[in-house]
Amino acid sequence: MKKFKTVIGLEVHIEISTASKMFCGCPTDHFGKKANSLVCPVCLGLPGALPYANRQAILASLKFGLAFGCRVSGFSKFDRKHYFYPDLPKGYQISQYDLPLCTEGQWHSESRKKIRIRRIHLEEDTAKLIHSEDNGKKVTLVDFNRSGVPLMELVTEPDFDNAEAVSEFLKEVQKTVRYLGISSADMEKGSMRLEANISLQEEGRKELPDYKVELKNINSFRFLAKAIKAELSRQEELLVKGNRVLQETRGYSEKTGKTFSQRVKEEAQDYRYFPEPDIPPVRFSEDEVEKIKLSLPELPAAKRQRFMDKYGLSQVYAEILIQEASRADYFEEAVALGAKSNFSAKTIADLMVNKNLDRQFPEPAGLVKRITEVTNKDYLPDELTQGAVKEVILKEVKAVADYQKGKTQSLGYLVGSVQRLLKGKADPRRVQEIIQKELTKGAEK
Ligand SMILES: [Zn+2]
Repeated sequence: MKKFKTVIGLEVHIEISTASKMFCGCPTDHFGKKANSLVCPVCLGLPGALPYANRQAILASLKFGLAFGCRVSGFSKFDRKHYFYPDLPKGYQISQYDLPLCTEGQWHSESRKKIRIRRIHLEEDTAKLIHSEDNGKKVTLVDFNRSGVPLMELVTEPDFDNAEAVSEFLKEVQKTVRYLGISSADMEKGSMRLEANISLQEEGRKELPDYKVELKNINSFRFLAKAIKAELSRQEELLVKGNRVLQETRGYSEKTGKTFSQRVKEEAQDYRYFPEPDIPPVRFSEDEVEKIKLSLPELPAAKRQRFMDKYGLSQVYAEILIQEASRADYFEEAVALGAKSNFSAKTIADLMVNKNLDRQFPEPAGLVKRITEVTNKDYLPDELTQGAVKEVILKEVKAVADYQKGKTQSLGYLVGSVQRLLKGKADPRRVQEIIQKELTKGAEK
């Protein structure tokens, strides 16, 4: 029986949360706004309107590219990508063709597999089509609020060989974008959109398969992993029977757990790209790029590794704590505060990961105070500790005498003896306090 290797490449679209749109001054926060209220001649695509590029969106894309080790082109330009569709009335989308902002990036999966990032470019989002009914008639409504919102597109090489690595990568992309503060990357609101190109390669073959199926319109990581698996088994079934797999676009149905055909592409479309004559090319000096690189915050991968090395956390704990940059900061602040009371980073991580205690205390100081209370409650009552201390002092005559002669190591021995007596259930700091108090009292007599 034939064996196959999975071949997956990704296209990820991310709406950049700048204040204004990509080529005009209209606001970008379109979600939930009255239809067609955030528009102007530029983003409506009216004839003669002049676009101008949004510098912040370009900077955001460069940061994102640098975060994934991309090469930033010193010279980049915008192009017109022609196609006809009602969500794009001017007949072309301003995008980037042969000179994207970033190229040749990379990412390594947990299993150390290298995924090459082909390019990251910037384009304008299109209007939103709403299929609805009006007086019993089926209609399609167009909302241009989204039209012209800066859209960043990342394209990988077909280097993924399983659905898990795809999810892992996409989660890293989402975290990185949030760390950089350039997008909410909220899939439910459409500010992060995923497409996967999937095919199967017969084992032993060098050349890539002569077809690919594009999975589109999937709005959660979980569904994407399921959709990929469903699509892979569909393709395998066809290929094993000796059939061809059609090059097409497919969607995924949660109900059936299967993919379904949306559009068959006979051949690659010709968009007749040509340089956008209304927008001058974008230039960056090496110094400027270097400055942007230096301005990047600590990224998720580096933070994850540092949390493991510096605080001795497991990978699972580190991963949970670095999900949000603000939570990671909270953890480190709490660790610094807790160190004064000898609370280990592990104790703090435990309470945050397993009990979500940080959600109850907006300030790390509140959490540390709570840990003090919790730990005290778990220790034996003070009377028992005091009793045990007295017992040990009576018994350990030599150690007591040594301590009173100034041999401070004896204190540790006495604390240890009390803990042995109480099976380690006393608060060590409290034991030490009581011993010291008792022995000073004894010396004063
Ligand atoms: Zn506008």
